[in-house]
Amino acid sequence: MKVIEHLAKADHPLISFEIIPPLRGGDVRGLLALIEDLSQYKPPFIDITSHAAEVIYEETPQGAIQRRVKRKRPGTLGVCALIQNKYHIDAVPHILCRGFSREETEDFLIELKYLGIDNVLAVRGDDSGYQKPLQHGRSANGYACDLVAQISAMNQGKYLEQGLLDAEPSSFCVGVGGYPEKHFEAPNLVSDIRSVKEKVASGAEYVVTQMFFDNRHYFRYVEQCREAGITVPIIPGLKVITRRNQLSNIPRNFYVEIPAALADEVAAARDDEILHVGVEWALQQTQELLDRGVPSVHFYVMQTANAIKLLMSKLGVGVGV
Ligand SMILES: Cc1cc2nc3c(=O)[nH]c(=O)nc-3n(C[C@H](O)[C@H](O)[C@H](O)COP(=O)(O)OP(=O)(O)OC[C@H]3O[C@@H](n4cnc5c(N)ncnc54)[C@H](O)[C@@H]3O)c2cc1C
Repeated sequence: MKVIEHLAKADHPLISFEIIPPLRGGDVRGLLALIEDLSQYKPPFIDITSHAAEVIYEETPQGAIQRRVKRKRPGTLGVCALIQNKYHIDAVPHILCRGFSREETEDFLIELKYLGIDNVLAVRGDDSGYQKPLQHGRSANGYACDLVAQISAMNQGKYLEQGLLDAEPSSFCVGVGGYPEKHFEAPNLVSDIRSVKEKVASGAEYVVTQMFFDNRHYFRYVEQCREAGITVPIIPGLKVITRRNQLSNIPRNFYVEIPAALADEVAAARDDEILHVGVEWALQQTQELLDRGVPSVHFYVMQTANAIKLLMSKLGVGVGV
């Protein structure tokens, strides 16, 4: 079922999760256990991130620096197949512009269609230091709105190769990313919101936000999006802080602010107390969002369920609900 259908049919706020495939060569059993844990909360959908190849520099035993191109986390398609067909939860694979040609994206979408997957989240991806050379006759999507346009065209039966005789339209529900604290490359929030409007005009049916730790960013963002004429659901994305080093990692990697009150509490906590500090903060955020009537909350779980299990129990979301 499509994400927007889940939202339209729900008689209570929905809780969804986002997970990340294991590192190349890594054991998938940890991820299976995580999905098993998350499935008990009956999420309407689970997002699975995608990862392009990136450049890494490694020192050889001889002391030379070696440049390698590596896709660290393959497996998005396999994890989606599992979630969709073993757990009967709607899988939402992320699809990227960067690192993939439009032709590869079309093939990926065909695989998803065969698997019965109804949803995708279309994002541009970040600069990984590696730009795959485009082979002759291949093309690339520059911005997420171009990727959304490609998927929308396929939804109308328009594949990259013109004039196919029996091309079946797909029927993907497309989500896109939004940044309550502004995307780091955008000159200002107004122009960033204009990009979201363009993604919606290209066919996106809902927005999931980047993580934020102060709900005021989200409320202001939704207000500005509505003023700009964006009417689709804007699902808030939340993350639970569980480690001290996230105080610097999260702002560095995601360009979001950690409020002083939360940062001070984490800094003052013992290592074994940090999870509880993070869960309490996320609990307050979630409760306020739910009180203010959000249709759904999306949690960036990524690899381990400890924090989310504690949070769900405090929220009163029971196993098997
Ligand atoms: C919910 C969510 C999930 C994500 N999942 C993944 C994932 O699985 N894998 C991954 O690698 N990354 C993921 N990301 C990160 C994302 O790829 C990066 O934040 C990336 O830098 C921007 O992606 P976007 O889709 O928002 O880009 P876009 O919407 O293309 O915007 C990128 C920048 O360009 C500007 N812009 C957009 N359109 C135009 C235009 N036509 N002309 C000029 N400027 C324009 C925007 O304002 C913005 O500053 C995710 C982000 C979010 C919010």
